[in-house]
Amino acid sequence: MHEQIDHPCVQHKLAIIRDVDTGHKRFRELATEITEFLCYEALKHIKMKEVKVQTPLAVASCRKIDTDIVVVPILRAGVGMLEGILELIPTARVGFVGLYRDEETKQPVSYYQRFPPQTKGGTIIIVDPMLATGGSTIAAIDLLKDAGAGQIVVICIVTCKEGLQLVEDAHPDVRVYTASIDERLDDNKYIVPGLGDAGDRLFGTSH
Ligand code: URA
Repeated sequence: MHEQIDHPCVQHKLAIIRDVDTGHKRFRELATEITEFLCYEALKHIKMKEVKVQTPLAVASCRKIDTDIVVVPILRAGVGMLEGILELIPTARVGFVGLYRDEETKQPVSYYQRFPPQTKGGTIIIVDPMLATGGSTIAAIDLLKDAGAGQIVVICIVTCKEGLQLVEDAHPDVRVYTASIDERLDDNKYIVPGLGDAGDRLFGTSH
């Protein structure tokens, strides 16, 4: 299950973040701004509870979010989306997962994971700007399901058909929210047209 957010505000910002001439400061700001919009959409199915609130005039029937929310950036580039999620859900707890690709098996291997206790049964938002081959996303979802996660959603800025399909095949219960489903991966497994190396562009580590 996936959703591409076609709102003009998102697509306008996507056009700017893709631009090779956008520097790391603006790239970071845009990653935060786009993430806020994507997160807003991603939370529309979140569990709610009915509550009564006393206004100055009367009791109002209202609804409040009824689940622990844990945001899990996939290191390193996922950290660039953390601020955008926390702007919307300041009380969210934060877990981390670090994965590298074993050169022999080509499989993602976890080198770091730290999840808050609320992961068990909570609503998890995995963030990674680029869902490319899908390998890291699938591995992160596997780890979180092993940790007892309840509902899981994935938010990425850009993905591609191939990686998205693999994630959906492996985890049909997980919803993916993105600003764009790009055409393909190149030989280096970069998304084309994509954004380039999102970690380098976020943190200013490219030449
Ligand atoms: N990671 C990136 O940073 N960019 C891509 O295009 C694919 C993976």
